[in-house]
Formats: sequence, structure tokens, C-alpha cells
Amino acid sequence: MSERKKLYEGKAKVLFATEDPHVLIQYFKDDATAFNGVKKGSIHDKGVINNKITERLMTILATVGIPVHFLERISEREQKIKKVEIVPVELVVRNRVAGSMAKRLGRQEGELLPRPVIEFYYKSDPLDDPLITLDHIEVFGWASKGEIEWILHTSSRINDVLRGYFASIGIHLVDYKLEFGRLSENPASLVLADEISPDTCRLWDMQTGKKLDKDRFRRDLGDVSEAYHEVAFRMGLMKSA
Ligand code: UDP
Repeated sequence: MSERKKLYEGKAKVLFATEDPHVLIQYFKDDATAFNGVKKGSIHDKGVINNKITERLMTILATVGIPVHFLERISEREQKIKKVEIVPVELVVRNRVAGSMAKRLGRQEGELLPRPVIEFYYKSDPLDDPLITLDHIEVFGWASKGEIEWILHTSSRINDVLRGYFASIGIHLVDYKLEFGRLSENPASLVLADEISPDTCRLWDMQTGKKLDKDRFRRDLGDVSEAYHEVAFRMGLMKSA
């Protein structure tokens, strides 16, 4: 890693400052955690793969007019991003039942939802990211009514684009997490932030149902790095799986 000033180190990424106060560098690590940091490990090449997958997906979304914080990939593990103040709410978009939804509501994993479902979680490690409602977001001032409306509308557009894209490479986009931020240069502007990768999405092979995402790590299914490689390969980002 370079001599740049480290601003923040999270579980899977590090943020560094640049000469431009409104631009940061996002560095992708191989470190993997699950269950709010209780399970720790490393996935070979994950940082390199997630950097490239995030670049590709953010670029696709930008092309259809979704504002994103991504600027450019500058190395194997680093990308330049616009500096944002993260809205402390994680959105989970679900096309099929899986993970915490299956557990909480006693539904079968894999059940196709009649329409996408969006959930909100308050970003708080000490509280273990609790599920919240739209009222909580507004009442506690985490985002304004107008911002919430924009985020919901934008998430629905993102889902249409990503679901179609993954279907075109034979992958079911089961569910995923989105984060949004206010540009430091212009806080009235919201953009899609963070990453979109097999760390933050559930991706199932359409033919076999094989999980190609972080559930392989969470559930000790093996072939974790191979699954991340497979996604990158189908996206045309790697020469072989
Ligand atoms: N997710 C994430 N970060 C989180 C929580 C969830 O990226 O802090 C993603 C997760 O990978 C999955 C989706 O959001 O694709 C839904 O996760 P779920 O609520 O089922 O939680 P899990 O049981 O996976 O922790």
C-alpha cells in the first residue's frame, strides 16, 4: 500500500485521501468477515476481483444515468471515488427469499418474490445493523423525506438494470445491499456509494443453483475464491474462471 493518508479502515476496504479534498481512494482488501465481525478470514484475490466487479457494475449503472461515487479504477486493488457523507442506512433489495429474510419470516430460501422487496437497516456495528422502517429514517433525521423518495426510486431502477445484467450471464441476483451518500462537494446530491460485489450480493448460478457469493464463506461451503473468480469470468473481467 502507498504512503497516502489513511482516513478510514473498514472490514473489507480502506479509504485514503488524495490531493483533491473531494476525491478519495478506495482500497479493496482480501479480508473477509461475517456475522458482524465474529467470523474472520481471508479470500484469495477477493480485493482484486471486487475492485473490478464494482468498477464494471458502477460503470453500467452510470451509463444508464444512475449517479455513482465511482470515478476510475487506478490499480488492481484501488479505485478513485467521489468523497461522500454516507447515509447511515443500508438498503437490502430482495428478488428472492434468502438469508435473514428466510430466517426471520420462516420462508424457504430461493422462493421468488412476486415483486422486489426493499428493506432498511440502520448502519451501526454496536447495534448489529437493526432492521428499521421508513419512519425511523425520517424521525431520527438519517435522511429527509425527499432523499428517501429518491433513494427508493433509484434503488428500483438499479434493481431492474442489475437483475437484467446478471440474468444475461446466467446468474440470479437474489438480494444485495446498497449504500448511498451525499457528495462532499454538493451535499444536496445523492449518489450510489460503497461497492457492489459478491461480498454484498447473493448470486446463484441459474442452471445449478450454485452459490457464487460470500455465503460460501459464511456457511463454510468451500471454493470461495473460485466462486468470486467465476463471477468475474462471466463478466469478462478474467481470462479463466
Ligand atoms: N449484506 C451486506 N452487508 C451487510 C448485510 C447484508 O452486504 O452488512 C448483503 C448480503 O450479502 C446479502 C443481502 O445484503 O446479499 C441480504 O443480507 P441478509 O439480510 O440476508 O443478511 P445475512 O443473513 O446475509 O447477514
